[in-house]
Amino acid sequence: TRPDTKTLLASLLADIERRNPAQPEFHQAAHEVLETLAPVLAARPEYADAGLVERLCEPERQIIFRVPWQDDHGRVHVNRGFRVEFNSALGPYKGGLRFHPSVNLGIVKFLGFEQIFKNALTGLGIGGGKGGSDFDPHGRSDAEVMRFCQSFMTELHRHIGEHTDVPAGDIGVGGREIGYLFGQYRRITNRWEAGVLTGKGTRWGGSAIRPEATGYGNVLFTAAMLRERGEDLEGQTAVVSGSGNVAIYTVEKLIALGANPLTCSDSTGYVVDDKGIDVELLKQIKEVERGRVGDYAARRGASARFVAGGSVWDVPADIALPSATQNELDADAAATLVRNGVKAVSEGANMPATPEAVHLLRQAGVAFGPGKAANAGGVAVSALEMSQNHARTVWPRARVEEELTHIMNGIHATCHETAERYGASGDYVTGANIAGFERVADAMLEQGV
Ligand code: GLU
Repeated sequence: TRPDTKTLLASLLADIERRNPAQPEFHQAAHEVLETLAPVLAARPEYADAGLVERLCEPERQIIFRVPWQDDHGRVHVNRGFRVEFNSALGPYKGGLRFHPSVNLGIVKFLGFEQIFKNALTGLGIGGGKGGSDFDPHGRSDAEVMRFCQSFMTELHRHIGEHTDVPAGDIGVGGREIGYLFGQYRRITNRWEAGVLTGKGTRWGGSAIRPEATGYGNVLFTAAMLRERGEDLEGQTAVVSGSGNVAIYTVEKLIALGANPLTCSDSTGYVVDDKGIDVELLKQIKEVERGRVGDYAARRGASARFVAGGSVWDVPADIALPSATQNELDADAAATLVRNGVKAVSEGANMPATPEAVHLLRQAGVAFGPGKAANAGGVAVSALEMSQNHARTVWPRARVEEELTHIMNGIHATCHETAERYGASGDYVTGANIAGFERVADAMLEQGV
């Protein structure tokens, strides 16, 4: 006889926690997915019989390596590199590299786990993986970043390939780093293998709209959630956290669709701009000068002020788009947003809202877009970059943007319909988890143990 699905899932979760000690973010991500799967496992007993949840929660391969490099003064540093190849049932492992001092195996596993379902939701034939290092690029010269990237790739190159594992950017890894990584891959392997990395420069194999895609996609997803409730983005105020690639292009798309983004932030504090964020100034400071958001407030004039510390979620707005990092929006912040009448919250970053925050927002009837659906635009355009590389072609901007819009609307519809099918109408968390799970699980089932 089979145990009931709730009991089964609880025992699987206990196993995950026991077998992966000291990985709280991975436990959190696994918990968030597994607690929504009971109805699918009840409806499809063959999944549990095939051990699908256990198999999904154990990465296919985990690589940890030493990354030695020399700073500009000739001093040698040693960082740790990671690549977790989580699941390849739907295609080559695909997912970004994060360079940040907080990176450890548990963080990479949480990100890789999320990536499996996110990538499945795009429908584009990509498996899930993630990697990175505890290297801190902040305050490092270009030459130091280059030497670090070269050392990182000197080990990583033997594990990746266009049909095997295709890394891209994440926090701390943008166009500059992808360039250095690609250069080293090409030198070591003597192969022009464009599809081995995505987020490349547009003059040498990169796709139009790739830097914009995560932020643009999240705004498109938010617009779709609002449409479902008979509203649109026009005239709505928004709070955005972060000031990296995701935040910048979230701001840009909000403005393009007639909304008014009021904030951005970094680790030093946040900026409120009563006239709405000036995206060109923000780009100049963050992308060109690699400065801080305080510089934005100083240069913008009377409409903007910088608040050291504090929380961007204290600023009242119709929409909140967390676009910085994991667990940046907690229960207190969610309560403040609800008190201030927020209508929609959508995750541009990976797992930025804590489980308590998500619970509170949903209880209050706020439309909530989970990251694995809402921020899938980035990896979706990465998959389009792989297609262009494979066909040795370059699509015009308009075509990529059209595809991105189509993909985001498709993900929204899939999540919405799946939630409906399982009696959880309007619950995008359940919809995204179940729809992503079903796609991977069916592929694994058909491919055998
Ligand atoms: N790091 C991004 C994400 O979290 C993009 C990954 C990719 O393009 O492979 O989805």
